[in-house]
Amino acid sequence: MRIFKFGGASVKDAEGVKNVLRVLNHEGIENTLIVISAMGKMTNAFEKIIDSYCQKAEDLNLNIDVVRNFHLMIINELFEEKNHPIFIEVENLFGQLSGFLIQNKLTDYNFIYDQIVGYGELLSTKIVSAFLNENNIKTSWIDVRDLIKTDANYRDASVNWELTSKNISKLNQQQLHITQGFLGSNSKGKTTTLGREGSDYTAAIFAHCLNAKSVTIWKDVDGVLNADPRYFSTTQLLEKISYSEAIEMAFYGASVIHPKTLKPLENKNIPLYVRSFYELDNNGTTVEKGTAIVPEIPCFILKQQQILISISALDFSFMVEHNLSELFKILHNYKLKVNLIQNSALSFSVCIEDKFNNFKQFSSELKLKYNISYIENVSLYTIRHANSTAISKIEQKGKVLLKQATKGTVQVVMQ
Ligand code: ADP
Ligand code: ASP
Ligand code: MG
Repeated sequence: MRIFKFGGASVKDAEGVKNVLRVLNHEGIENTLIVISAMGKMTNAFEKIIDSYCQKAEDLNLNIDVVRNFHLMIINELFEEKNHPIFIEVENLFGQLSGFLIQNKLTDYNFIYDQIVGYGELLSTKIVSAFLNENNIKTSWIDVRDLIKTDANYRDASVNWELTSKNISKLNQQQLHITQGFLGSNSKGKTTTLGREGSDYTAAIFAHCLNAKSVTIWKDVDGVLNADPRYFSTTQLLEKISYSEAIEMAFYGASVIHPKTLKPLENKNIPLYVRSFYELDNNGTTVEKGTAIVPEIPCFILKQQQILISISALDFSFMVEHNLSELFKILHNYKLKVNLIQNSALSFSVCIEDKFNNFKQFSSELKLKYNISYIENVSLYTIRHANSTAISKIEQKGKVLLKQATKGTVQVVMQ
């Protein structure tokens, strides 16, 4: 089996969906399973629906219309026959969404989030599947929630590997399956999600459970580059990287691969290809066992919107194990992601990411016991395979607030 994953960027409009057909015609469809994310930036648009449902009811209908019109525009362009069943299927999904919005009595934001956001993937897979069927590629649409079982940690669910493997191994491997990235379901059958950008991880879960030959993620870039082309004007393609190199890059924030994707592949030695969905004759990047990185050049990873916080005890006592363990517990409780740590006798600095908007509450709790000072909106640059030229290139970008070096990896917090 081979797993193909198409992300939001590859199906951002009708042309993108047509391009999926071109990719499949070029690559063949034998023994393939396709994982697809929500179209374009639709997950962000669903987040607006969620926020209006929870807090700003007056915007709810407008935000639903934006998402509905976006999908209707795409299917209008893809399907000439206006009584094609896809028009009803799309309306049915919006009907189900409205049903949830009316009937739901629960107030847990994370639960609500997952029940709503998942429609992005349900819509995209229905549309792509119908379009391929219409163009002589017969597909079988699968609801991934019947296969990937998770705990009930909404918005960041953990996979129940035993149940999931059992379910996935029952798939008929002769068919071309299309399924949703990012989603799963818990033991109550409620939709869960694997964390933003989690569709790469879904592809890896299928590959692991099916002992697949490879995973290919189709991207709008040539492969894994040595820096994000949105922020660096010159970049170079990495032809080969090891799993550990890819894990490190993804962990430090190279958003081209979701960090959880690599481990399930590494454990079964399944290669990951990152390829351009435009340039089908190019090889892109291969992630596999072996040489750390080819060519061996410095790689730059940027994480924006970080908060650099410095913490010291109110009584000026040393910052030692018991305060540190308490601090980590509080950081964990507020789901703040720690990206860099620096400790001295009297103060402890951490660079954190506030994905779930908890920083205000976190700092109020902390102020009861500690002196804190913080700078918001700083950038964290990580340079792998760093050399002095690479480091000074970054340092020229602004004011250095903190710098740390470990074994060829240099991290710089900049304002
Ligand atoms: P998808 O919608 O397919 O998941 P994403 O937009 O999430 O695609 O990921 C592709 C984007 O990742 C690229 O357009 C690029 O801007 C960004 N990116 C960040 N770091 C890298 C890197 N090291 N190499 C290539 N692309 C990168
Ligand atoms: N659609 C989800 C997101 O945007 C998952 C993914 O794209 O991988 O986060
Ligand atoms: Mg993505």
